[in-house]
Amino acid sequence: MNQSAFALGALGGVACASLALALVWWLRPQARRWRARDATQQDAFEQWPTSALVVDVVSHQVVSANPAMMRSVGYTFTELCTLHLSDVLTCDGVDAKGLLEQLQSATLRTPVEMHQHCKDGSVRNVEGTCHRMTLGAREVVALGVHDVTVRRRTESKLLEKQQQLDHLAHHDHLTGLPNRLYLAATLPGLIEEAKNSGNLLAVLFLDLDRFKHVNDSRGHDTGDKLLKTVAQRVRSTVRAQDLVVRMGGDEFVVILRGITDTQTVTDTSSRITQALAAPMVVDGRTLVTTVSIGVSLYPRDGADMSELLRHSDTAMYQAKDKGRNNFQMFSPAMDKRLKERIAIESSLRTALQSRQLEVHYQPIVEIENQQVTALEALLRWKHPSHGYVRPERFVSIAEEAGLIVPIGEFVLQRTLEDMARWRQAGGNLVPVAINVSAVQLQRSNLPESIARLTKAHGLEPSMLQVELTESAVFERREARAREASQDAVGRLRELGVHIAIDDFGTGYSSLSYLKRWRVDTLKIDRSFVRDLVTDMSDLAIVSAIIAMARHLHIKVVAEGIEGWPQLEKVRQLGCTYAQGYLFARPAPAEDCLTFLSGKPLNLTERLPILDLESTGSGERVRALRA
Ligand code: C2E
Ligand code: MG
Ligand code: MG
Repeated sequence: MNQSAFALGALGGVACASLALALVWWLRPQARRWRARDATQQDAFEQWPTSALVVDVVSHQVVSANPAMMRSVGYTFTELCTLHLSDVLTCDGVDAKGLLEQLQSATLRTPVEMHQHCKDGSVRNVEGTCHRMTLGAREVVALGVHDVTVRRRTESKLLEKQQQLDHLAHHDHLTGLPNRLYLAATLPGLIEEAKNSGNLLAVLFLDLDRFKHVNDSRGHDTGDKLLKTVAQRVRSTVRAQDLVVRMGGDEFVVILRGITDTQTVTDTSSRITQALAAPMVVDGRTLVTTVSIGVSLYPRDGADMSELLRHSDTAMYQAKDKGRNNFQMFSPAMDKRLKERIAIESSLRTALQSRQLEVHYQPIVEIENQQVTALEALLRWKHPSHGYVRPERFVSIAEEAGLIVPIGEFVLQRTLEDMARWRQAGGNLVPVAINVSAVQLQRSNLPESIARLTKAHGLEPSMLQVELTESAVFERREARAREASQDAVGRLRELGVHIAIDDFGTGYSSLSYLKRWRVDTLKIDRSFVRDLVTDMSDLAIVSAIIAMARHLHIKVVAEGIEGWPQLEKVRQLGCTYAQGYLFARPAPAEDCLTFLSGKPLNLTERLPILDLESTGSGERVRALRA
């Protein structure tokens, strides 16, 4: 056995770091003598597991190798000694000289990664360090080499797993699109990119319209498939460099990069709305879904991610408010409106507790004899600093904030108290109509409350009417919500409560609904009545509604009658009831006894004070009257 091979065997066994020290030890004469005498050392040498190789620094010729190296590469000692370093060990991107240089500057912590070429043609991944020394007249390096094939394989599997985990954490499993986390990690970089390039960055916030309806009526499976189709359509509508993210539910965000003009943004937004509005075939059924999009632009609408997302979200709500299936660019005025909404919501909570809410009443009159046949209870908010706030400004906010249920209970309670007081004061009671929002109808136990409270006040439930807006009730696409409404209406009718459809004509309810829900009264929305005398299409609509209601034996009330010509027109068309400033404005409870005298209203007295709030029509009515 070659002595240098023996020595390397012993050396190779120690970790690469101790290679140099061990070599020095081996080269000492007494250690050599001691080892030669000791058979145990010979065995250790044979079995030593780490490969070691000695290479000539100048010729790169292999000078020696230990048994572990021979076993590892499959060459005999003699064969190995005919080879060069590059026949046994190579490193990507460097030649043998470069490899030796790298090895000499390597440490245990930073070993050189190499490929070991075996006699059978296989290649293994190894790591190594070395020590330079002089053997006789030769300058050599002694290399300690570790096989890291298994470790590398494990590492690459771990890396793959890590990448899979990473993908799962940053992508939505349903659509395969990047998710909210991915956006949070990426958007700041994209903003930075836009900042450096001076380009615009557009953030499009997408929310599907009435997606819940699909889930409720067709099931979650179909809902999921629809979402997948939506994801594909949005993805294929934008460019490869744009980012499409599913935020969760039916919300998506699209980031348009490298934009130089706003026209591109509006064009893309409009392409997305069109692409999604096209029918989709899911499970053999054709579904139609639309989308509302809000857009914010960097740097115009926000400097950072949260501001841009918040503003695109605000603009998206604006798109919903504007009737859905459209896109809106953010404007600071929207933010102002949003803040106003938030302010109204919080002061409305206080209003409920601190008795700022009141109920006023407006008569509904029989046209033929001007008798008051009913009163409508109208909510008023007496704000400590803003005065009376009209319900139009706060009812929808109260609905969204879930405050409409307690507010509705307050109106019912107060109305019944006022009715009891009028009766006590000798008034001729007429039924009172309360306005009930869809949310209140579905969520509260209105029929039970009415039964209990009317009894408590010694009143019949038939003295109450409930006004529901058609859009809020009939057009609920969610089957569950519609069923809840229908059920509540059924129970109200059983109690003897009359049902009126308010603002009729503004929604899309069909005759079949009116028949099925067995409605008692239709109230024609005042927007049709306002210009009835001058606008032919309004005239056509009103006359059609009256004719249809007659046919179905449903009473008709014309809302918003402000002048004699309007009143005369609706009378000619066959309408029997009317409501409006011509007869009386809504008044506080204490002023209502005049409505309950049992005598016809004296209209001539009211003519001079006719103050027409609705713009335009006042002038017209005055002119017509003159
Ligand atoms: P609505 O039920 O259609 O009530 C009629 C609205 O028209 C009232 O507005 C009334 O003041 C107004 N009005 C009556 N006659 C005329 C007229 O000749 N000309 C004009 N320009 N307006 C007239 P108000 O009180 O502002 O109420 C607006 C809406 O707010 C109501 O419309 C109703 O939908 C809702 N609302 C009112 N009170 C309540 C309530 O207690 N609960 C719920 N959920 N909604 C309510
Ligand atoms: Mg009403
Ligand atoms: Mg109305």
